[in-house]
Amino acid sequence: MARVAVVGAGLGGLAAAARLAALGHAVTVLEQAPQVGGKLGWYARDGHGFDTGPSLVTLPQLYRDLFAATGGPLEEAVDLMRLDPAVAYRFADGTRLSVPGDAAAVPGALDAALGGGAGAQWAALMTRAADMWRVTEQPFLRSPLAGAATLARLARSRADVATVAPWRTLRGLGTAYLRDPRLGTLLDRYATYSGSDPRRAPAVLATVPYVEQRFGSWYVRGALRRLAEAVAARVVERGAVVRTGTAVERVLVEGGRAAGVRLAGGEVLPADVVVSGADAAALYADLLPAARPTRRVRRDLARSTPSLSGFVLLLALRGRTAGLAHHTVLFPGDYDAEFDAVFGVGRHRGAPQPVADPTVYVSAPDDPATRPDDDSESWFVLVNAPRHDPAGGVDWDAPGLADRYAARVLEVLARRGLDVRDRVRWCVVRTPADLERDTRSVGGSIYGTSSNGARAAFLRPGNASPVPGLFLVGGSSHPGGGLPLVALSAEIVAGLVGSA
Ligand SMILES: Cc1cc2nc3c(=O)[nH]c(=O)nc-3n(C[C@H](O)[C@H](O)[C@H](O)COP(=O)(O)OP(=O)(O)OC[C@H]3O[C@@H](n4cnc5c(N)ncnc54)[C@H](O)[C@@H]3O)c2cc1C
Repeated sequence: MARVAVVGAGLGGLAAAARLAALGHAVTVLEQAPQVGGKLGWYARDGHGFDTGPSLVTLPQLYRDLFAATGGPLEEAVDLMRLDPAVAYRFADGTRLSVPGDAAAVPGALDAALGGGAGAQWAALMTRAADMWRVTEQPFLRSPLAGAATLARLARSRADVATVAPWRTLRGLGTAYLRDPRLGTLLDRYATYSGSDPRRAPAVLATVPYVEQRFGSWYVRGALRRLAEAVAARVVERGAVVRTGTAVERVLVEGGRAAGVRLAGGEVLPADVVVSGADAAALYADLLPAARPTRRVRRDLARSTPSLSGFVLLLALRGRTAGLAHHTVLFPGDYDAEFDAVFGVGRHRGAPQPVADPTVYVSAPDDPATRPDDDSESWFVLVNAPRHDPAGGVDWDAPGLADRYAARVLEVLARRGLDVRDRVRWCVVRTPADLERDTRSVGGSIYGTSSNGARAAFLRPGNASPVPGLFLVGGSSHPGGGLPLVALSAEIVAGLVGSA
């Protein structure tokens, strides 16, 4: 039995803790915030309640695996609900498209809304994406990152390499399959699920809409925070200790291996294994000594583009909106301008800035647990935003910026047909700077490093660090961010640490 210290009680840290405790280790989870969940946060006031981070669960099978491996079925712990429609889109030209929750019904819905053979175009792309998924799931997503060995595993078959087309971008793949520009916009959006720019992210991200449509879009009744609570409960049931309000200041290294952690306040917790669920950039910059073995990882991190962040409005609304879907996405006329502004490229080269005319995402669960009464709504509104970077980019703490931008987002919503300005009871604004403060993710990047660039996946920090006994879990390490991949990273780490 090893003594394991887990840094951070985000979903990554919690999932790793549950698995390691179930394998017989003595696990202590250390979380700097007063509560567990990390980015999967919750805000409640006056009967209104909001998930402040994730609003969509995909690939729930990965959480079924986690629960099955650590005690009892997921379905006994949370109440999952498959969404149908999955998402409603509004395009700049006025077209409305409601994407069904069942993959088989999607082409028909595309034909009905867009015409011109849109369904067949999308179906052909999804067939390709299914092949990409088959080729990459096991050797890449479910395996530790192992540099050349990972590349060799992926490159074993020429046909598989052609399927994944690592030289191609998501935008390039879309252009090859989709003649309708609205379908191109729809595909581009999936780059943002990993915090990336579709013009630079790899084609293999077409697997994201594939798995979403094939395995469904899901909600957790009572809100997604129930998932974090359920995993935390499982951690405790398996005998692990969870200490909130407990920041780790240093990962201790003795004789070249991880030896425990030092807490803010000076307490030292000796450990045989340290699993860090903290943002990988923060781990390598602040928690570890800048010693030689970690130089390469730090160099790779410096070469990567950090993922985008998000600007969030939590809107407590009077009244109900007729016909509103659970998830609605309202696109701008110029999607590229959004990526230029967020990443400081193209028109905004070297000067990222809040997006003037952003895509707006509204999540409005029809769930009594999120509202004070049946004549109220609680909306989570998200737009892509550049990270908080007072030194070289946007300073989200600049006086007045957050409020001005919140008013802009409400005005954009109104222009696109959802004017709720006279229904707002109150509005809480959460900027990338708030996300950084709450979860210690550097700059408030949602997904650690982005997938921008053909090598991005291989520059992302691996789950086994160069320091023996120190492992990384969660969205800023391999295989990446988002609830499903975070669960996979925990499975990989548990495999690397092994049984007691
Ligand atoms: C606005 C937003 C919307 C999103 N939407 C979706 C979505 O719809 N679907 C989806 O799948 N994903 C979504 N995501 C992404 C998803 O939330 C993350 O990928 C996932 O929750 C990351 O989990 P994690 O455990 O890796 O990191 P985190 O949740 O960031 O957890 C890290 C934890 O470590 C703690 N910590 C950091 N440093 C220390 C330290 N030194 N000592 C102690 N504790 C420390 C932090 O406080 C935090 O609790 C969204 C995220 C955001 C912010």
